[in-house]
Amino acid sequence: MDKKITIAIDGFSSTGKSTLARQLAKHLGYVYVDTGAMYRAVTYYALQNGYIIDDHFDRDGLVRKLPEISLQFLFNPDIGNAEIYLNEVNVENEIRTLEVSGWVSRVAEVSEVRAKLVEQQKHMGENKGVVMDGRDIGTVVFPNAELKLFMTASPETRAQRRFEELQGKGQDVTYDAVLKNVQERDYIDTHRKDSPLIMADDAIEIDNSNLSITQQFEKVVDLVQKVS
Ligand code: C5P
Repeated sequence: MDKKITIAIDGFSSTGKSTLARQLAKHLGYVYVDTGAMYRAVTYYALQNGYIIDDHFDRDGLVRKLPEISLQFLFNPDIGNAEIYLNEVNVENEIRTLEVSGWVSRVAEVSEVRAKLVEQQKHMGENKGVVMDGRDIGTVVFPNAELKLFMTASPETRAQRRFEELQGKGQDVTYDAVLKNVQERDYIDTHRKDSPLIMADDAIEIDNSNLSITQQFEKVVDLVQKVS
């Protein structure tokens, strides 16, 4: 493979985007950027700083504070992956709770939040050699990406995967609560006004309901070779 490219991976929640993106980045020596972690970190900030209390979300208050929110990814050699820092504090674990998952799609609807994060994402990918996953990467962040993938799987398959992942981390959740969260996020993500989740015209759809992680990886490595 001679030239570095940009790989955009979009799709619904828990379709294994980050697993695939991480594998690809390692294989190609590229940078991996998990944009969902950025929206989650802003949501965690809102929860911690009183902009989300009970059922109330103070959007304007959060928007006013956006200039004070700084996000960074730092590589952790012990685990071989980058972790997200919110105002210099590692929040990689804190952003994966069901509480954050329950609010993140509402925070991600806010145009000012999107504008800030998209600008940072464009900057992180300006030298190519990047695998970025999210909801609007092929449509908004990198409309000219050489390879765009759109991942799908049934809501039940996805909820089961996420449920097992959360259980493995010792979180006290039920399968039904995870399925409800996955369905709610799908709805909000596909119906929001600003940058809804849609497949780019030139994206390749990958339904991985019946693909193993290895089968999926091999299929995508083939696709990468074709465009590099
Ligand atoms: O990928 P992950 O499930 O961690 O993303 C969490 C949420 O962040 C999504 O459900 C979506 O609401 C939002 N998001 C987004 N745009 C992105 C990445 C994530 O709106 N590029």
